[in-house]
Amino acid sequence: MSPLFLDTVFPVRCLACDRPGNVGILELCLSCICTLCPVAEGHLGDYVSRSLSANNNSGPIRGYAGWYYDEENPARLLQKRIKYDGHRTLGKHLGMLLGRRINEQAESSFDVITPIPLHRIRLIERGHNQSTDIANGLCSETGIPVDESVIRRTSFTASQVGRSRDARRLNLEGVFSTGAGTDVRGLHILLIDDVVTTGATLFSAIQTLSSAGAGGISVAALFFVRPDISDSSREEHYK
Ligand SMILES: [Zn+2]
Repeated sequence: MSPLFLDTVFPVRCLACDRPGNVGILELCLSCICTLCPVAEGHLGDYVSRSLSANNNSGPIRGYAGWYYDEENPARLLQKRIKYDGHRTLGKHLGMLLGRRINEQAESSFDVITPIPLHRIRLIERGHNQSTDIANGLCSETGIPVDESVIRRTSFTASQVGRSRDARRLNLEGVFSTGAGTDVRGLHILLIDDVVTTGATLFSAIQTLSSAGAGGISVAALFFVRPDISDSSREEHYK
């Protein structure tokens, strides 16, 4: 069967603009890929460090992020694809792209890559943890091992969608603990999340690891909602 015939019967369409065409591994056409806006170096780390400065004893947090997330670009569609639609290979490929950025930017080495865990009930519901897929992509690009036993989610929290920044932080207080039998003292841990909206999830995980004596904590996320966007807009973007 000729490729031309296959394209006619099963046209490949861009995830964002729905035009038929030559989409790549991201399922986006070239013009839509060009609308993705890379996150400025240091922006995520500065945001997290500043937000945690009052109650964090783990020192400055370094952050690495892929692309800004807003409704004007296809980042939102990619995030939905890897989180809710089960496109695990896409999550891994995006993690590899993020891994290349970390290889270029990171000034220190990490002992382990740790995805933000889902509660086991959520994991059963969804069937996979999108942050684990991203972490596996990062691992294949950087060679740093993934360790999911470092931290676990002990409380089942309601969805964060539609909650204000303060409500998110309250909802996530104390929901993580270090894994049973896991000693994180002295380890430099790279925490992985798919998207940083208010940062409440990361802050809670950082505080848990910091209290347990982690030697260093850095964070990496595929997508980052610009902090200058108002809370109401951020919640809207996250739906
Ligand atoms: Zn397109």
